[in-house]
Amino acid sequence: MSFSTEVKNELCRVSMQRTCCTRAEIYGALLHASVFSHKEIRLSAENMTVVRRLQALLQRAFFVECEPQKAGRKQQLVLTEPAQIGRVFDALGYDCKSHITYHINRNLLEEDCCIASFLRGAFLMGGTVAGPDKKSHLELKTTHQSLAGEETSLMLDLGLSPKQARRGSAYLLYFKDGASAEDFLTRIGAPHAAMELMQAKVEKNLRNTINRQVNCETANMMKAADASARQIAAIQALIDSRGEDAFPGNLWETVRLRLEYPTDSLSELAQRFDPPISKPGLSHRLKKIIELAEKED
Ligand SMILES: [Zn+2]
Repeated sequence: MSFSTEVKNELCRVSMQRTCCTRAEIYGALLHASVFSHKEIRLSAENMTVVRRLQALLQRAFFVECEPQKAGRKQQLVLTEPAQIGRVFDALGYDCKSHITYHINRNLLEEDCCIASFLRGAFLMGGTVAGPDKKSHLELKTTHQSLAGEETSLMLDLGLSPKQARRGSAYLLYFKDGASAEDFLTRIGAPHAAMELMQAKVEKNLRNTINRQVNCETANMMKAADASARQIAAIQALIDSRGEDAFPGNLWETVRLRLEYPTDSLSELAQRFDPPISKPGLSHRLKKIIELAEKED
């Protein structure tokens, strides 16, 4: 099941208690319907759960009975009877004789609960959202420019700021950042889906942090191994040319320990002295050995 389907199934479980919200939800769906005119209303979807929801909304909001019909991979709800279409138009405050202009009747969407319900209906018809395993993307598609503009202002009323784009003949409202997509889903009634997206993001961040740390440790180890190899080469060169005498004072102990423990880090090696010496102290001695070897060349 795609994540969009999962989200829509969750949206279809939102209760239909409030009359104002029921009407707002089917209104949002109708403005994204395949056909919404005074001659015909046609709502189609592949997801049967969505079709059943729309059927129930039509019944509750307008007392219109309508059975789904199969059309290819989709199921459709089709209204052609003038009396039924008239009831829908009346309830939404549209003049039955005029053409639908795809302007939103804001009188029906005064409360935040109704705006959220409207957007839920719109998303059921025209929305998609990328799953937790993908890059964050949620979009709402319409073929009407005016509708895209007015839906943007509805979202702004809820504190959401979608971006707008055009794809062919379609107008898109979309969220690319995860937090906004999660907010949107929570507002329209899919808090579980939003949580799923959020958790995936947290896990991904955690994984990235761990990978960064591992990479960093590996890099440090490589650097230490490199340095040790250079020190050992310098020691070998000095021993070859002048033997033990090449190392004045306390340097011989350093040479002996470095050769014995080539993979030790500086701090590990410093601890092997008796008594242990400081890391900067050891670093200074090793630098001295490299300098001596360079002078020999
Ligand atoms: Zn409401």
